[in-house]
Amino acid sequence: MPTIFSKIISGELPSDIVYRDDLVTAFRDINPLAPTHILIVPNKEIATVNDLTDDDERIAGRLFLAARRIAEQEGIAQDGYRLIVNCNRDGGQEVYHLHMHLLGGRPIGPMVVRH
Ligand code: AMP
Repeated sequence: MPTIFSKIISGELPSDIVYRDDLVTAFRDINPLAPTHILIVPNKEIATVNDLTDDDERIAGRLFLAARRIAEQEGIAQDGYRLIVNCNRDGGQEVYHLHMHLLGGRPIGPMVVRH
């Protein structure tokens, strides 16, 4: 079964795609938590950070390079932004297709809420 993000990447599900290359695709989060909230997703299905292998080094690097380009494109590079990757239950991961959140357009606030 393809993941929901694979269906977005293949065009089977609608989305607002802002960037695409041979390794990653980026689209706007359906439930944005900031004026800019974009998900950067490997085109290949990798479930979590735990599932990355040495062969995925270019993909892992490309997530950051795509984030840099998209931040420029969105006009938030200078003011700044936050990149988040959640892993498994304690990380709060909901979609098991590796993705990097790019959040900006306002001060994003404390890194982690203290409990
Ligand atoms: P995470 O908790 O890191 O797994 O984040 C999953 C993110 O995917 C959430 O911020 C959701 O709002 C987002 N999301 C889920 N379904 C879609 C969709 N169809 N299009 C865009 N974003 C989605």
